[in-house]
Amino acid sequence: MGQLNEARIFVTGGAGFIGFHLCKKLSSLTSNLTIYDNLSSGKVENVKHIPRVRFVKADIRDPKKLQSQEKADVIFHLAAQVVVPYSMENPIEDFETNARGTLNVLEKARKDDARVVFTSSAAVYGNTPVLPTPESYGYSPASCYGLSKVVGEQYCNMYSKQYGLDITILRLANVYGPRCHGVIEDFLNKISRNPEKLEIIGSGMQSRDFVHVFDVVDALILAATSDAAVGETFNIGFGKTVTIIELAKMMLKILGLLDKTVITTTNVPWKGDINKIWFDISKVQRVLGWQPKISLEDNLRELIMERKMFS
Ligand code: NAD
Repeated sequence: MGQLNEARIFVTGGAGFIGFHLCKKLSSLTSNLTIYDNLSSGKVENVKHIPRVRFVKADIRDPKKLQSQEKADVIFHLAAQVVVPYSMENPIEDFETNARGTLNVLEKARKDDARVVFTSSAAVYGNTPVLPTPESYGYSPASCYGLSKVVGEQYCNMYSKQYGLDITILRLANVYGPRCHGVIEDFLNKISRNPEKLEIIGSGMQSRDFVHVFDVVDALILAATSDAAVGETFNIGFGKTVTIIELAKMMLKILGLLDKTVITTTNVPWKGDINKIWFDISKVQRVLGWQPKISLEDNLRELIMERKMFS
C-alpha cells in the first residue's frame, strides 16, 4: 500500500459499485485521485461520498478526452458495460466500451508509463467443465460480454509484452456488498414488491462464487502494489459455489419469509448465462498471499439490514 502514497491514481468506472468502494479506500492513501466515468450506470452520489477526489464525467470511448487527462502513475480500469443480456442485444456497443474502450485506456497508460490493473470476469471462462476453474483453463466465453473481456485481456497481455507496461488482470467472480447490484439486489427488490412470490430466472440450479467487495478492493490494491502481480492474471473469488436457489433460501430465512414465500423458476436462462462459476483461487493465495475474509453466510444478514440505509 505504501507505494500508492501520493501516487497519481486514475480510476475508470470509479462511480460504479466496485469503483466506489475502491476509491473510498484510495482516497485515504493519496490526495491525487481522479475518477473518470460517464455515469451510464455509476452514480454521482457515490462520487460525492469520496473525499478529495477529482471527478471527470467522460467516456472511455473518447480517446482524445482520455489522452488530455493529467498524467497517471497507476490506472485502475473498471469502466465497462457489465450486463450480460444487454451485451447479447447490443454486441457492438458492448465491444466499443469493453474492448475498444480498454484499448483507449491502455493507450493512455502507454503514454503515461502507468501501472494498470484491469478488471476482467468469470465470463471469459463461459461454461467450463473444469471446476473449480484455474486461470490456466483458457477462454470459452458464452456471451458477447465475456468475449469483449477476453479482447480486453488480450490487449493487456500485448501491451505488457510488447510495450513493457506493468499490467495485472483480475478476473472477478460475483461481487456483492453494500450498494451492489446483481442477483442479491434483484431478489431484495422482488421480495419487497411481492413477499409472497420470488421468481428466479433460469432453473435456479445455476451457481455462483460470491466474493465480498471489501475483499475485492484489497485484491485490487495488492495487484497495483505487489511486484509479484506484474504481468499476471488472477482469479478473485471466494473459492466456493452456491446455487441461486440456495441463495434465495438463505435470504428468505434471514428475512423470516422461508415458509411464506413461494420460489418459482422460469427454467429459461437468459442468453449468454453461465451454469456454474466456481474459482480456483490457489494462485492468488500463493503468489500474492491474498485471502478472502468475508463469507456470504456471515455477511448476508448484515447486507440485507444495511440495504435499508441506501434504499
Ligand atoms: P458498475 O456498472 O457499477 O460500474 C461500472 C462503471 O463504469 C459505472 O460507474 C459506469 O458509469 C462506468 N462506465 C460504463 N461505461 C463507461 C464508459 N464508456 N466510459 C466511462 N465510464 C463508463 O459495475 P461494477 O460491478 O462496479 O463493475 C466494475 C468492473 O468489474 C467492470 O469492469 C466489470 O466488468 C467487472 N466485474 C464486476 C463483477 C461484479 O460482480 N460486480 C464481476 C466480474 C467483473
